[in-house]
Amino acid sequence: MNSQWECVIGLEVHVQLKTQSKIFSGAPTAFGAEPNTQACAVDLGLPGVLPVLNRDAVEKAITFGLAVGGDVARTCRFDRKNYFYPDLPKGYQISQLDEPIVAGGYLDVEFEGELRRINLTRAHLEEDAGKSVHDAFVNQSGIDLNRAGTPLLEVVSEPELTSPAEAAAYFRTLHALVRYLGICDGNLNEGSMRCDANVSIRPRGSSELNERTEIKNINSFRFVERAITFEIERQIELVESGGKVVLETMLYDAERDETRPMRSKENSDDYRYFPDPDLLPVIVSDAMFEEARAALPELPAAKRKRYVEDLGLDAKTATRLVADLPTASYFEATAAAAGNAQLAANWITSDVAAALNKAGDDTEIKIPAETLGVLIQRIEDDTISSKIARSLFDVLWSEGGDVDRLIKDRGLEQVSDTGALQSIVDELVAQNTAQVEQYRAGKTKVLGFFVGQVMKATQGKANPKQVNELLTAALAGE
Ligand code: ADP
Ligand code: MG
Repeated sequence: MNSQWECVIGLEVHVQLKTQSKIFSGAPTAFGAEPNTQACAVDLGLPGVLPVLNRDAVEKAITFGLAVGGDVARTCRFDRKNYFYPDLPKGYQISQLDEPIVAGGYLDVEFEGELRRINLTRAHLEEDAGKSVHDAFVNQSGIDLNRAGTPLLEVVSEPELTSPAEAAAYFRTLHALVRYLGICDGNLNEGSMRCDANVSIRPRGSSELNERTEIKNINSFRFVERAITFEIERQIELVESGGKVVLETMLYDAERDETRPMRSKENSDDYRYFPDPDLLPVIVSDAMFEEARAALPELPAAKRKRYVEDLGLDAKTATRLVADLPTASYFEATAAAAGNAQLAANWITSDVAAALNKAGDDTEIKIPAETLGVLIQRIEDDTISSKIARSLFDVLWSEGGDVDRLIKDRGLEQVSDTGALQSIVDELVAQNTAQVEQYRAGKTKVLGFFVGQVMKATQGKANPKQVNELLTAALAGE
């Protein structure tokens, strides 16, 4: 970015709540069904139907509010946001304007090795609209109303993000959190989280808030960063050539990597919001509130702190492990089985991560945590060398099996029998007089040659520590 300017970014993220049925009807929310097979009379906005609020959606919103330290409203209300669009048959969207379920709160975002606190304005419940389908018919558009009425939690940040990369880090942190909480499946490619990015620029060091544009519907971490980057550049160029940023809704075109104006931005007056007369105010009872609080899992930030302070991991490794709940749980189970957190962390961030990478997306870890724990124990108690452990890891990953059984059946025990190793060492020293001379003349590097020979003779199974001790003694002529 041009150094005279800085940018201001605020994100509005639509989090699709993972409920069985819709927010105001009993129709299912599952992704990928045949068009218009999951929209009932309520979702279609047929006359005479009434919405009924889904308790699960409210509970998930409360869970989110507690997790971000926001104020969970004990009573709140739904409003109608009126507009016409083909994918909105009712002519209005049910949302929350003045009384959102969650006010305030914050997310601690790790960015460039530091934690930055980004404040949230609010999080409110609303229903999703349907979808226009432009590629199913020639010269015609279709409407698929399966998504109409799917519960969304719209999470609005304060305008506190200061770079495209930081905005992407915020989006990632929010993604990790909602998956932790089990309130959203986080499937970005199915549209489970969609983000509108509000962007403005100002002279570096200034604290004014200038006119912004809003880029709609970005559905990947990478695109958030790219769309904002493009938009900042566009605004700088515009202002530097004497133009003015106008409040506009922009569309990000991923294929051309550019933002384009879509429409002049509406403001809330345009929507003629009013309280939905079909819905009663929502009352969050003490019981509901306490239940949500009691069910709250340990959050990523707390986990990370515990890994560093109690388990002695470095901050970077801890961040990696807490990035998603399955990985964190796997780590904890492995560490417990191995009796060693650091080694468990090393294996998970290197060998396990590499194996997952190689296997591609959506693969699960193929080795149970308990099994990996035993494998680590067998290195620790000198039964096998780490080199053998690596090859055993590959076997366990592709074929499964029991660590101790495999070690036994394949004869992989480390040779720690001093007598057996001593005779190999003695023989080597006797046979390689030239190298022994070199060693004694000060060329201690030839030790490596001898270690290699012992390993070869034992097929890699010799205990490296003992080999070193025995060789050093023998070569010194003791
Ligand atoms: P709307 O719902 O019309 O988009 P809001 O006032 O709710 O408007 O603001 C939406 C988002 O815009 C918030 O995330 C907020 O942080 C962000 N925002 C507001 N003003 C600015 C600004 N000048 N520059 C960048 N972002 C802004
Ligand atoms: Mg907006």
